[in-house]
Amino acid sequence: MSCVKINYALKDDKIVSILDIPLEERGLKCNCVCPVCHEKLSAKLGAKNQHHFAHSTNSNCDPNYATQTALHLLAKEIIDEEKTMKFPPYFIDFSETNIYKTLNLEDKIRFKQKFTEPYEIIESKKVIFDSVFLEKKVSSITPDIIGTVNNKHCLIEIAVTHFVDEEKETKVRDLNLPMIEIDLNNCIKNPLNIQDLKNKIIFDIDCKKWIFNPRIPFEIHKADKYFKSQIEEIQAVEKEEFESQCKVYSEAITSKRDNFSIVKLYDNLYFDKDSPFYKKYQVPPFFLDIPIEGETIIHCDRRKWQLFVFMNARANDSIDFKILENLFVHNINVTFSPPNTYPNLKMVLKKFLFHLHCLCLIEYHCDGIFDPNSYILKKSSGFVAPTNSYAKKLKSIIESSDPCSLETAKKVEALLSKQYFKR
Ligand SMILES: [Zn+2]
Repeated sequence: MSCVKINYALKDDKIVSILDIPLEERGLKCNCVCPVCHEKLSAKLGAKNQHHFAHSTNSNCDPNYATQTALHLLAKEIIDEEKTMKFPPYFIDFSETNIYKTLNLEDKIRFKQKFTEPYEIIESKKVIFDSVFLEKKVSSITPDIIGTVNNKHCLIEIAVTHFVDEEKETKVRDLNLPMIEIDLNNCIKNPLNIQDLKNKIIFDIDCKKWIFNPRIPFEIHKADKYFKSQIEEIQAVEKEEFESQCKVYSEAITSKRDNFSIVKLYDNLYFDKDSPFYKKYQVPPFFLDIPIEGETIIHCDRRKWQLFVFMNARANDSIDFKILENLFVHNINVTFSPPNTYPNLKMVLKKFLFHLHCLCLIEYHCDGIFDPNSYILKKSSGFVAPTNSYAKKLKSIIESSDPCSLETAKKVEALLSKQYFKR
């Protein structure tokens, strides 16, 4: 700290900056004294080093402390003389608002990531003081400056190396008085001339911050209103996207349906025609016509790919999704959109298999490949893992009606649509 040079001194009881001393007043001719010990200071205005003041004798006086004291004195002097100051604005973070507190955890996280800019609830403004008091005690604290407007006090602290601590902040809150801190720390190493310092202290707002402002609770509604409208805007866009997805979905499940029989499907897929399944179902049963959220990435008739997956699941003990994907591409000539949709395909297949499992048509164990409780899409897609009552409903449909009838297919579709689009 001793490398700090004295940049401000007292001359005729006024603070001066080293930058304001003309060359002809170098050395003791500057007529300055130290603001702490009042010893004579010499103005060092050489070409080599940064200009500064130095004690003329071997003094124990700390130049750092002398500079701090000078800046304190100067700031007080300026505000006392000018009786005006520009107050800083007050910004509030999204996470400090009331609307934030009302959100669920998921929304808290995602909106916090979106709203990184704080919102201004109190504008910056220039204030003219009726009177200014220096070092006047208020209850248990003695602020550097008190400016009053219409008998209302505003406390001002000058911070050079010591900033307002938590204890003082608590006291200010308890007093319910506004307090501003002016940060002059970088004026120690980077001296300014007196005029620039004056401008900084009066007009600059970047060096000032509110330690406390009693108006905050009355102004916070502005931030709530702002962030609420932002959230509503985002939710409206999301709703629109969701609805357009639903539209695409419902169009996809009704279009491009070839009028084929399961016999033809078997022919195409080279399945064993002696299988009991083939003999039982001449037309596709409802469970090979199940609407699956996300299935629109698969560009082929739903019954084709579902039969294919179903037969595969019956034939194998476990399901290798990579192999299944390859089989898909080679056997039923499907296309996917967008091109890189393997993870999506996997999710679509898992959902389909899960429904088959709920219908007791296949054994699909939670063997690490699939666990409905930790299902990754559960939250983000609105997908809700079937409950017992859901499984019961599905079973009652399959048991009480003809599995191949269009009516059954429609019932299941209605049930599943409710599952998928539950919001
Ligand atoms: Zn001194």
